[in-house]
Amino acid sequence: MIANQQILQPTLQPTWTPERIDQLKSYFAAGLSCRDIAVNIGVSRNAVIGKLSRLNLTRTSPEERRARRKRSSHPAQKSTAKQPFQIRHAVYDQEPDDAPIVSANHCSLLELSEQHCRWPISTPGAEDFCFCGNTPLGGMPYCSGHYRLAYQVGSRHRAARG
Ligand SMILES: [Zn+2]
Repeated sequence: MIANQQILQPTLQPTWTPERIDQLKSYFAAGLSCRDIAVNIGVSRNAVIGKLSRLNLTRTSPEERRARRKRSSHPAQKSTAKQPFQIRHAVYDQEPDDAPIVSANHCSLLELSEQHCRWPISTPGAEDFCFCGNTPLGGMPYCSGHYRLAYQVGSRHRAARG
């Protein structure tokens, strides 16, 4: 190797002789700065830096190491990042005002009691006239749906009752 180089480049004085490269590597391994290596070998600092990079012997500065850590940990940060706050489904804790009121326990006037919503279904006097009959709200004459109708749309209630 050494002989070959001497034969191939007999007149050239290369900056980097194999001996100097060995020195460079050992100084680098010892942790010397580029400037110190350059002084010890007797070459320019730029030559040291250039040769080190060609040899892939790069020593990163603390800043560069930090930046590299940051970059390398970025995917992990991404995967552990908090998920976007999930939009909670709206909870209907009460029926919308226009929800149909299901009166499943129609009862006649005679059957009405405090346990029956007394909201009139259909027209009083009609053959199918009856009352809602649902379980009323506590202390109220109407079930929840009809209570809402009675007190939010009172005019309709009065009209329905005639
Ligand atoms: Zn009712």
